[in-house]
Amino acid sequence: MEYDVIIIGAGPAGLTAGLYAGRYRLRTRILEKLAVGGRILLTDRIDNYPGFPDGITSQELSGRMRAQVEKLEVSIMTEEALEVDCSRRSVRTDSAAYQARALIIATGAYPRRLNVPGEDMFVGRGVSYCATCDAPFFRDKEVVVVGGGNSVAEEALYLARYARKVVLVHRRDELRASAILQEELGREPKIEFLLSSVVTGIRGTQKVSAVGIKDLKSGQESERPCDGVFIFIGYEPDTQMFRNLLRTDEAGFIITDRGMATDKPGVFACGDCCQKSLFQVITASAEGAIAADSAFKFISAAAR
Ligand code: NAP
Repeated sequence: MEYDVIIIGAGPAGLTAGLYAGRYRLRTRILEKLAVGGRILLTDRIDNYPGFPDGITSQELSGRMRAQVEKLEVSIMTEEALEVDCSRRSVRTDSAAYQARALIIATGAYPRRLNVPGEDMFVGRGVSYCATCDAPFFRDKEVVVVGGGNSVAEEALYLARYARKVVLVHRRDELRASAILQEELGREPKIEFLLSSVVTGIRGTQKVSAVGIKDLKSGQESERPCDGVFIFIGYEPDTQMFRNLLRTDEAGFIITDRGMATDKPGVFACGDCCQKSLFQVITASAEGAIAADSAFKFISAAAR
């Protein structure tokens, strides 16, 4: 099947690219392997997207983005891109083969693992990477959250609505979360801080019952009973498929120019899979708009 633009990924970057491509009347298809909305669905609310002074739920924001794209006859399909040829700009999925005049990669990122004993064994049985999905299972229970960035701060606050106690474990003695989030954490009496500490292991029988904690200052190790462990220690770009095809940095983030062009002609990238200094819904969306505009210019130039 032939398209002007194939967009891989339907998070805020891919959806905004679809919106702009649709408005350019480019024949566009968006392929999404999981859920339309992408990584924002792992969070409950977005409080810093302009135009929503009281915040907006991630479900509603992604739903609105989707509706806006679909009004333009851009198709959004649940289909996983299994093989991409960046030179030919072709994509193979489990059910079809596509040829496009331009590709936009918006594959996003997935949660980084802690890589401690017990983590893999207890995923879904107490270990989680998504408070929005799993917090209700921990009503009146005690949970440990790991990390020091904006994600852990937001998710700890969300978990505090359900859990009896939320113990925030961070490897340094200060968080890197924004000041406003740290103020909110400080006002939440259910949250306890274990700073300069790391989780060394996750223990239990059928499900999680404790974590091993090491105090990095004293070197002392202890066991802390808990019912769940939520891990928010950053994200890895979902770019394995592209690492030998496109220029990436050491961590695998795709390197683009200011027009979101990769090092392959006609292949653009946007959102959390790209190298940048600020990972936000608004930066992902902005990059999606730029990528679609660049794709339009590329296609128009090639047609001349
Ligand atoms: P992040 O900002 O990269 O923070 C990751 C945290 O995990 C850091 O505190 C880091 O510790 C810690 N960490 C990393 N590897 C670790 C390990 N192996 N063991 C223990 N701790 C480890 O990640 P994030 O909070 O998920 O945020 C990702 C991006 O999304 C950021 O750019 C963030 O600003 C953005 N974001 C924004 C919002 C918002 O604006 N409301 C919400 C969520 C996310 P160190 O501090 O010691 O490095």
